[in-house]
Amino acid sequence: MKDTELYTALLRLGAPWVVREVRLDVAAERVDVRIEEAAGARWCCPECGQTAPLYDHAEERQWRHLDTCECRTYLHARLPRVECREHGVRQVHARWASPGSQFSLKMESRLIDTLKECDVTGATRLTGTSWDEAWGLVEKAVARGLARKERRIPPSLCVDEKAFAKHHRYETVICDAQRGTVEYVVEDRTQESLEAYYRQFTAEELAQVRAVAMDMWDPYVAATRACVPEAEKKIVFDKFHVLRTVSEAVDQVRRQEHKVLRAEGDERLKGTKHLWLANEENVPEWRRAEFEAVKGENLKTSRAWAIKESLRTFWTLDPAPAADYFRRWYFWATHSRLGPVVKAAKTLHTHLANILTYFQHHVTNATAEGLNSKIQMVKEMACGFRNRQHYKTAIYFHCGGLDLYPRVEASA
Ligand SMILES: [Zn+2]
Repeated sequence: MKDTELYTALLRLGAPWVVREVRLDVAAERVDVRIEEAAGARWCCPECGQTAPLYDHAEERQWRHLDTCECRTYLHARLPRVECREHGVRQVHARWASPGSQFSLKMESRLIDTLKECDVTGATRLTGTSWDEAWGLVEKAVARGLARKERRIPPSLCVDEKAFAKHHRYETVICDAQRGTVEYVVEDRTQESLEAYYRQFTAEELAQVRAVAMDMWDPYVAATRACVPEAEKKIVFDKFHVLRTVSEAVDQVRRQEHKVLRAEGDERLKGTKHLWLANEENVPEWRRAEFEAVKGENLKTSRAWAIKESLRTFWTLDPAPAADYFRRWYFWATHSRLGPVVKAAKTLHTHLANILTYFQHHVTNATAEGLNSKIQMVKEMACGFRNRQHYKTAIYFHCGGLDLYPRVEASA
């Protein structure tokens, strides 16, 4: 088999394209493949698909393809230009690359795969592309994915705020709770932030929303009430955020108590912060004994912790016993004489109606928990991005569930 036949077959170019020449430069570890059309090839206008006569050939272009045995491989061609009666002179698209790309389709897809597995800098090292080239592909892939995305509002949504960079700047991230994909990322965590998402849809579409899980955060509540019909029945104050409110109260109790104890030379609470915040089963093995000991002490912090832990049972119950359980828990918490715990319990009580909606919808942020850790990973990878738009693009790329890959429409 001749080298040109080999490459024509491997590249699966299809008629009328054939490989005319293959040049190997062993020292430079480089293969150059020249593609031309077979004699008598017939062309169509890329605009209207009508047959059109050949006009001339554009200047030679080069596309990077998948490596051949570790040799960088480049495809070369002079693309034909046709003269359409209706559209004038138009250049035929290459079948092996998307218009304007400097990579073949196969190479572009490989680069997208690589970029999904590691950060941009890592991908540049693995593939020998520049940062700008690799990032350009991410942006292009996201634009393509968003353009192809089906217009649809998910029936179950999770709304969450994510801190971006320092200085308490936030993004609002809206997820599809069932598919586990990020639907929308928008600046800030105001009412307008969330309304910007809702406003893309018609009233009929918004009526399809069955549940919206969120934090007890007034701007999100207001946005949902303003846009989603019967929002009262659909807003679910999510388990994760409700528990966090109580966990923060436990932490305040610990800090106050630690201060008092330390003044008396008692260091029992030193270095225990994270033990009280973790779910009991998440306390690391090597700290179990220490935690068992301090938990058993007659401390305000251990009482606060017990109140927090007992609330977790609430979500495991059926609706009627759950409401009853909450009443007893609330009595216990508000009679604890632990200021921050009393305050947290009152906050929950104020929001109880929409904490109980959980039992209709069973939607929690935990549905999107895998997604949250992925977003966290993107944030860590994106520490080089000082730019919000880059951060958003990276979230859509990794978490958007988008169809990112290039395809060439089979016309030319
Ligand atoms: Zn035409």
